[in-house]
Amino acid sequence: MTVSMTPEELAESILCGDRRALAKGITLVESTSPSHREQASQLLELIMPHTGNSIRLGISGVPGVGKSTFIESFGNYVIGQGHRVAVLAVDPTSAISGGSILGDKTRMETLSRNPNAYIRPSPAGKTLGGVTRRTRETLLLCEAAGFDIIFVETVGVGQSETAVAEMTDMFLLMLLPGGGDELQGIKRGIMELADLVLVNKSDGDQQAAANRTVADYGMALHLLHPRSRHWQARVQALSALKNQGVDEVWQTVEEFREALTQAGEIEARRSAQSRAWMWSETADTLLAELKESDVVKSLVAGLEKEVTQGRIPPAIAARTLIDAFRK
Ligand code: GDP
Repeated sequence: MTVSMTPEELAESILCGDRRALAKGITLVESTSPSHREQASQLLELIMPHTGNSIRLGISGVPGVGKSTFIESFGNYVIGQGHRVAVLAVDPTSAISGGSILGDKTRMETLSRNPNAYIRPSPAGKTLGGVTRRTRETLLLCEAAGFDIIFVETVGVGQSETAVAEMTDMFLLMLLPGGGDELQGIKRGIMELADLVLVNKSDGDQQAAANRTVADYGMALHLLHPRSRHWQARVQALSALKNQGVDEVWQTVEEFREALTQAGEIEARRSAQSRAWMWSETADTLLAELKESDVVKSLVAGLEKEVTQGRIPPAIAARTLIDAFRK
């Protein structure tokens, strides 16, 4: 990639809402080359004062539940109300298998053509941590470019929900009509993250099953430990395909934002997220440096073997690596 613009020029163009500059900025933060990292850091520092002005929405659900259909109808609806929508993705499968659940098909076709929408597939990465860091930075760039509703989408396969909940203000969980948690592969811990549960495909012959699911989850949510003192998680029926219940989702998002902003909780959540992000950055960077050091490299194979064969305790091996690195 050649970025002929300086970070200053790039920041200025992004702040003017220039989409090509935004795309360049994102390519920069996604790059692993050290000189790009340096420029990306400068860019992020420059745009930082212009971030934070969006509602950050996390959304998850199993493949096929209707996430892209929903984001498309919701996106078009809120754009009609004068908003600008960015859609980012955290695809844990790209880190695990090198494949991608969220990136394969052409998604959100009408939304992707709308000048008030920006859709970015999940960055590739070897670790979920790497993927989420890039997505966090991309989110900030999108805010600087004037997008005021930002979706971070993930699939319901595990850890990535927690990562997405930790970078957003509100977490939406999409379910299908019928079937209990286990059937839908939803772990209790994931339910506890949800600020709003949407039972999608609430239409046609699935309508009755959807109504039952809404009632069941309504009760179940009251039994869970609430994520916030200022918000009781809700369940709503939705037909993303028929565009039914989409405006109600927006109303709930606005109510949520109002309630949590007044209580100071959006700010508190974001501060806590920034602190946690700082420490995970610190840990990741130190670990990467340690693994790159020659003395550590020379010890790793031997120590791993000793540990695997149970000849030395892992804690001692770790200490040996750290001591060698510090010298
Ligand atoms: P994703 O994998 O979660 O992004 O799911 P998609 O949005 O791609 O939807 C998967 C399939 O479900 C598609 O064939 C959609 O047309 C269909 N679908 C999505 N929303 C609804 C809905 O509200 N009702 C019905 N009946 N089908 C839907």
